[in-house]
Amino acid sequence: MTAMVTRACDIVLLGPPGAGKGTQAKRLAAAFELLHVSTGDLLRDEIARRTELGSEAKAFMVKGELVPDELVGKMLMGLLHSQAASGGCVYDGYPRTTAQAALLDGVLAELARRIDAVLFIGVPDEVIISRMDGRRSCSECGAVFHLTGNPPRQDGVCDACGGALGQREDDRAEVVVERLRVYRHYTQPLLDLYRHRGNLTEVDGLGGVDEVFGRLRAALESCRR
Ligand code: AMP
Repeated sequence: MTAMVTRACDIVLLGPPGAGKGTQAKRLAAAFELLHVSTGDLLRDEIARRTELGSEAKAFMVKGELVPDELVGKMLMGLLHSQAASGGCVYDGYPRTTAQAALLDGVLAELARRIDAVLFIGVPDEVIISRMDGRRSCSECGAVFHLTGNPPRQDGVCDACGGALGQREDDRAEVVVERLRVYRHYTQPLLDLYRHRGNLTEVDGLGGVDEVFGRLRAALESCRR
């Protein structure tokens, strides 16, 4: 990868749950030397550390509902102003509502930055359901596998750290249905918002991880110039 690092670059990844945002965001962040900002991971970390925010958030997350904007916003503000984020970020799972989109615009404006690109990863519903059903995550390091698409070398054991693999509570079929409903209602309208601004690129999310990554990288080629 020969990304030219000349200024901060901020990239939003949009897509339904199970579109592969997390996997692709990690790869994009590594390739473009950006900070991977996953509000889902940050919230799960708050839960693991048994913080007050974590226990408030968990009540919404287990049901597939959105955590209130103020809670997520509070968690994110410090991070976005930190040195770690100063070179730019790949946002994965944020924004999810129009209020969150406005907050992100405001914070980036304070930092004399703006969203450079919004990439939408499109995947049909039936593929989402099967992907989420087979998804297994490491309880230790958060690495993600799939029972058929990307199985671990040893059943139930993380390739990366040897931790135990399990199904996220909110990846159960009944919760996925609610997450999809919430996505359509609150997050899908953001597509129009960014489309009107002219910085939305739609990318086909079907195919292997490398294939989709290639499409995303191609879509971002102009971002670092
Ligand atoms: P994710 O890992 O991005 O699929 O997020 C898992 C869950 O965390 C979501 O279903 C929400 O309950 C919560 N969550 C993550 N990001 C946000 C956000 N930006 N706003 C509200 N809730 C969020």
